[in-house]
Amino acid sequence: MTLKGCIGLEIHIALKTKTKLFCSCPLDAKSEANSNVCPVCLGHPGVLPSLNNEAVKQGLRIVTALEMQVPEELRFDRKHYIYPDLSKNFQTSQFYFTLGRGGSLGFKHQGKAYSISLREAHLEEDAAKLIHQDDESMVDYNRGGTPLLELVTEPVLHSGLEAELVLRNLRLLLRRIEASEANMELAQMRCDANVSVSEDGQPTGTRVEIKNLNSPRFVKQAIEYEIGRQRELLARGGKVVQETRLWNENRGITQAMRSKESAHDYRYLPEPDLPVVALPPELISAIGSSLPELPEARIARYLREYSLSYEAAWRLLDEPAAEKFFLACVEILPEPELIYSWLTNQVAELLKEKNTELYESCLSPAKLVEIIRLKQDGAITSSNAKLLLKLVLETAEEVPVLLQNHKLILISDESRIRSWIAQALEKNNSALEAYIAGKRAVFGFLKGETLRRSGGQADPARVDLLLGQALAEKEESR
Ligand code: ZN
Ligand code: MN
Repeated sequence: MTLKGCIGLEIHIALKTKTKLFCSCPLDAKSEANSNVCPVCLGHPGVLPSLNNEAVKQGLRIVTALEMQVPEELRFDRKHYIYPDLSKNFQTSQFYFTLGRGGSLGFKHQGKAYSISLREAHLEEDAAKLIHQDDESMVDYNRGGTPLLELVTEPVLHSGLEAELVLRNLRLLLRRIEASEANMELAQMRCDANVSVSEDGQPTGTRVEIKNLNSPRFVKQAIEYEIGRQRELLARGGKVVQETRLWNENRGITQAMRSKESAHDYRYLPEPDLPVVALPPELISAIGSSLPELPEARIARYLREYSLSYEAAWRLLDEPAAEKFFLACVEILPEPELIYSWLTNQVAELLKEKNTELYESCLSPAKLVEIIRLKQDGAITSSNAKLLLKLVLETAEEVPVLLQNHKLILISDESRIRSWIAQALEKNNSALEAYIAGKRAVFGFLKGETLRRSGGQADPARVDLLLGQALAEKEESR
């Protein structure tokens, strides 16, 4: 009996806005600790919050892109709890009427189509950041009040890989619609995973929550580990305890953090200090039509227009600078597959070697196309094309100048090649004699001698042909 994993995700997304959700404190990760605070986000008694419309709009962009249902009115609720990261003792969140319900996230992976059902999405403010150092704990209230959208999936995922794919594809969407930077390493997107195992067709088992996973890869690893741990525990006759666990990335295991006997009673209450805001259908449809082309649609178009593979198109979308570069190249030279191959092979390799980014280099779409054309026309060899690309990446010099200065262009002029062959044969008489005597292997040596005299610029295919002719003539004249 193999127990099947069952996973639901809760994903906190930091919305791209200039200011906090209920006050005008700026959001700037580089600011000194506790410098972007005011009585509202510190939760002083008697202060009144005022809603940041930009944050609502960003939240609506996300739920609309995910085809979630939006309520007629925007309402907030208070979620009560006490913790050092929340000085007002309640978090302003949404519980009774959330910003989005239902909807799905669609994507493909290795030919398989997924449509992940979503449960709901709600707007809420972030808590402050606790910093534990040696035996001291500190709190930075700059993060407190950051607008978040918490997205909750239905528990429909079955593996760590599926969870990783959800995060990667959600990130792609969020960046495309510019609603969040969604950088997990910078905590702009944080994921908690609820994991349980059960027999096929049986109700789900006791679930364990893994908190604060901060990269798609860790989400996958932590879930895989946790499914294995629960299976093993049950196989030994043990019981899964309902608890919160943390992923220890150094040891590659999840560890118990605290037991969670029952759900907390947060005593949700409608927020009395914020007015109810109408969300008329016209507003929602206007937001829908203001969205750019979404990733799934754009990928489908790239497959149609450029005959790229799904994975290739996905990779381009995941790196907007490369996508822009690719499109500019295709405009000049309509050979998308060839250009994609150059960008992801030769160009990517050199950039990695030099530890630099495409936009920081001197390479322009026009120059890359120039190099590709030279190679296609047989004017330069593959290795010279690579050398030329390297030179172009580091200098602003024009391609024809580099070709000349570095003698990269192939010479196929017959009379010049014949004269190098003549010189090579004259200087290597013993090799010539050996060849005539039947030692065919010296052909390679004589070819090398010819190429050397041309400074490596003679077209090797031409040299093969003309050297063969010259040697045959020498044989006949005997
Ligand atoms: Zn503030
Ligand atoms: Mn939350």
